[in-house]
Amino acid sequence: MRKDSRFYSILFNKCPRCHEGDFFVTNSAFSRHFDDMHDHCPHCGENFTPEPGFYWASMFVSYAFFTIWTLLTFFVAVQWLKIDVDYYLMGLIPSYLILTPYFFRVARRTWLTLFIAPKPNHVGSSVPVTKG
Ligand SMILES: [Zn+2]
Repeated sequence: MRKDSRFYSILFNKCPRCHEGDFFVTNSAFSRHFDDMHDHCPHCGENFTPEPGFYWASMFVSYAFFTIWTLLTFFVAVQWLKIDVDYYLMGLIPSYLILTPYFFRVARRTWLTLFIAPKPNHVGSSVPVTKG
């Protein structure tokens, strides 16, 4: 995977602008302080909180991830593997509990990445490089 892509910074806890500095303080979604964010990028200084309440909308991104997870696991478990729906639902609830901190972090990074363009001089960035 290319290090200068938005997808890379979403998946690997990197700043959406420079793809170098960490977004969250810890790299693990399963540590005690999984939700501690840097205020600014430690590498380029990008502001990670553009306005108060900015991350409220990331809940909807998280909701979308859970919906995708539910649909995928349903089709694999119930439709493809023919597991009984009751057993599927019993497995789904623990998976929600385990995935909550992970989706929380990915949703915040995804939400911020939608609003911050990568550094213009990065190869492959979506912002066209203008010269002169
Ligand atoms: Zn940065």
